[in-house]
Amino acid sequence: MEKKPITVAGNEFPLHSVRVAVVGSGAAALNAAVHLARLGVDDVAIVTERLGAGVSANAGSDKQTYYRLNPADDAGDSARETANRLFSGGCMHGDVALVEASLSLLEFHHLASLGVPFPFDRYGSHAAYRTDHDERARGSSAGPGTSIMMYEKLRDEAKLLGIPVLEGLTVVDIVTVDDTNGRRAAGIIAMGGVSGAGAPYNLCAIGADYVVLATGGPGALYADSVYPASQAGSLGAAVASGAVAQNLSESQFGIASKRPRWNLSGSYQQALPRYYSTAPDGGGEREFLADCFPSVEALLAAQFRKGYEWPFDVKKITGHGSSCVDLLVYYESVVRGRRVYIDYRSNPSFPGSAFGIDVLPAEARDYLERSNAVGKAPVERLLVMNTPAYELFLKHGIDLAREPLEIAVCHQHVNGGLRGDIWWESSVRNLFPVGEANGSHGVYRPGGAALNAGQVGGLRAAQMIAHRVSGKAPEGGDGRSASVRIALKARIRECRRALAAKPADPRAERLELQRRMSRALGILRDPAGIERAIEENAGAMRRHRESGVAAAKALRDFLKNADLLLAERLFLEASRLALSRIEGGRGSYLVGRIGDFLKIDEEGRARTVSPPVLGGMALGEIVELSLGGDGRIDSRVVPVRPIPRETMWFERVWKEYMEGSVYTPD
Ligand SMILES: Cc1cc2nc3c(=O)[nH]c(=O)nc-3n(C[C@H](O)[C@H](O)[C@H](O)COP(=O)(O)OP(=O)(O)OC[C@H]3O[C@@H](n4cnc5c(N)ncnc54)[C@H](O)[C@@H]3O)c2cc1C
Repeated sequence: MEKKPITVAGNEFPLHSVRVAVVGSGAAALNAAVHLARLGVDDVAIVTERLGAGVSANAGSDKQTYYRLNPADDAGDSARETANRLFSGGCMHGDVALVEASLSLLEFHHLASLGVPFPFDRYGSHAAYRTDHDERARGSSAGPGTSIMMYEKLRDEAKLLGIPVLEGLTVVDIVTVDDTNGRRAAGIIAMGGVSGAGAPYNLCAIGADYVVLATGGPGALYADSVYPASQAGSLGAAVASGAVAQNLSESQFGIASKRPRWNLSGSYQQALPRYYSTAPDGGGEREFLADCFPSVEALLAAQFRKGYEWPFDVKKITGHGSSCVDLLVYYESVVRGRRVYIDYRSNPSFPGSAFGIDVLPAEARDYLERSNAVGKAPVERLLVMNTPAYELFLKHGIDLAREPLEIAVCHQHVNGGLRGDIWWESSVRNLFPVGEANGSHGVYRPGGAALNAGQVGGLRAAQMIAHRVSGKAPEGGDGRSASVRIALKARIRECRRALAAKPADPRAERLELQRRMSRALGILRDPAGIERAIEENAGAMRRHRESGVAAAKALRDFLKNADLLLAERLFLEASRLALSRIEGGRGSYLVGRIGDFLKIDEEGRARTVSPPVLGGMALGEIVELSLGGDGRIDSRVVPVRPIPRETMWFERVWKEYMEGSVYTPD
């Protein structure tokens, strides 16, 4: 990596030049950097807001899953079978599904060989279990902090390989150049860190022939969210640079605690805690779930199943299914504005029936008895089933034996993101979105497929970059310097204007955006609500363009808000188009108004759940979005590509591999 100053508008800014800039430092970024170094690409730098920030390094649940083809499956799992499962989730390209399936084992073993403690038996087979949306056992786990361990092992490996890290930098622009082959990535503009220190507005530039964008999902979009609060990603910057986005209407939502932000799946639900809500001032406590279930057995069965059917799913409402719990929590909190709690000190109650292990449905009773978790209170059952789950909250100062936990139906993962091809390359040449930034998933992704896709994507991007740089001099060039200058000039103008304008509070603006998103694009989506949110978003964008900040230290948040406002607009436009193609709902959201799904009495209590009538789900198509030159968002629908049917003839593959034609498109 080379560093020299660049003069723009009479000021000097640091300019780092590097062959590959890997942006972000979650599990996806670190893995891409490690593979690049191992494949012999010697001028790689990691550029990140902070080592230890992001989802991989922080988030967890009862048990985190890593999804992979299962070599120990008695019925003979295969890459094609696994790809079929990924593809059948809908709105996913078949060739990408095949790559994710084929490389899932290699990447799993890569992690295992780095020391991520995935459990294995005495013969060396890694244990596996079934996750949501799968009929085979393909999930592996090292426990609640699997992604945290992945992050730590990959971080240590990157350090061992001597990959430099530029820390404290928020990427605000992806710089591109236009050449005869179209638009290609040429670097980034970032704000903050040691690199930006001393330069006007803390801006600096990193010129790079290749950019691996692993900035995660735009977690800061929602008020009810289980992402780390600081995680905002860079979707707006990527789309502004010309990258195409896809499937932005698709996310995962589920029940999580608000402080700390933690998914309440697995034993947290199987311990059968009591759910209740209160008015905002704490009065009027009520066990709202009992109003809507026909019997205590039905209520407990739904609560128990929530443990292994964690994400909200429109198909799991019928027959008093587990997703009724999310819908009722959503109604209490988002629609009625009440606060909802989960309480491990006492059992759920039901009019006319007493709680007891004997009234549990057979499935739950059997599970609890086998686990010897038959204690009187939910906290006793939780402690027997999963002591670390109890201790986790204790570490955050919350004793579940003494106090309730406030919860919400939280945004947890974006299935969509930037469009990548089978090498994870975006529509901008040399720009590779990997990890959650890449929206490879469709509607129903099996639990654990996100971590796998992040690892496979990093390897694929590294393989393609290593192939392209092999034996070639760095590109760099005058075109790159000119583009860096233009991008820096635009940012200088914007910062200057913001400091001169009437200051607004970036935090208040962010909160308003987050509340708008939780209202309009949660688990219930109404086309009229989306139109309203689009208007409000346009107003917020206007306000942003006209307002400013009181001091330079607020500039970073101010620019992040602009990125998030564009991301919000993209989510809303994607959902507007997706909703016009489906009936009743799909995956993680219902389409309609609350009254279509809940019968409400005159006191405002939900009394009956009416399951959605699910019509066409448009699972064979993908909504794509791009930004036109005039700032308008173009949205369109494209059909999914099928799973390729190539025969594995060794001599042919060997030849294509040796010639390098495996790297060229069909
Ligand atoms: C509670 C929870 C539980 C989950 N459980 C599972 C599970 O069991 N199985 C599964 O497969 N998936 C799970 N997921 C999803 C999965 O964990 C994430 O998709 C994955 O960890 C994302 O990894 P990443 O490397 O792409 O992004 P992250 O780990 O989020 O990393 C993003 C990085 O980019 C940096 N960054 C962000 N914006 C910028 C910017 N503008 N400039 C510079 N740097 C930036 C951040 O600081 C961070 O270093 C879960 C998610 C949550 C929230």
